[in-house]
Amino acid sequence: MTTCILCQTFFSSPLCFRDLFLMRKSREVLCGSCQSSFLKIGKNYCPTCQKAGYSEICPDCLAWQDRGHRICHTALYRYEQNMANYFVQYKQWGDYQLRFVFAKEIKEKFKEWKGYTIVPIPVSKQRYQERGFNQVEGILEAAEISYERILQKADVEHQIGKDRRERLAMEQVFAVKGKIKVQKGVILVDDVYTTGATMELAKKVLSENGCQNIFTFSIAR
Ligand SMILES: [Zn+2]
Ligand SMILES: [Zn+2]
Repeated sequence: MTTCILCQTFFSSPLCFRDLFLMRKSREVLCGSCQSSFLKIGKNYCPTCQKAGYSEICPDCLAWQDRGHRICHTALYRYEQNMANYFVQYKQWGDYQLRFVFAKEIKEKFKEWKGYTIVPIPVSKQRYQERGFNQVEGILEAAEISYERILQKADVEHQIGKDRRERLAMEQVFAVKGKIKVQKGVILVDDVYTTGATMELAKKVLSENGCQNIFTFSIAR
């Protein structure tokens, strides 16, 4: 029996031959009911950002296209209530164990991107101190994917009198650290893709510093 890392109930997870051979536990971390509570993107999705429920390019991507941006995003799951709850538990409550929730699938997915430089979206120093970890790096480490800290995020002063939009714009200032050496291309990784603004800002900084072939990935869209 194993304990589900999300709901703490016991569940039986069958061990595969390799696990038995190596005398280790199966890497299943979620019970069946938690596993199925997350909704995959499904069959209908925006061809450029994978937003579920669209069969053509979604309004977010059309707006980016109008501004001359080329969106090429991959996501695993839909961002809905269960996913939102997961991120609250992981990020706000700081339950670091939960970095393992999607590890198996992420590891599998990243096999497609052999040779690419994996770059997590950074968090500000302030956020890092509050949380104690970068949520994206935690997830990549759980999936045993090596990454490079090429980007850094500028610290934000929360100024009174600025509205939410202005604060968000200020929070999303990226810079590159040192010299960048990229072979095949870059996969930028974030936890959630909402409007694409974070990814596009990070892409812009990377391409201004000589990076080409930049693609983006998030767990949820
Ligand atoms: Zn569970
Ligand atoms: Zn789209």
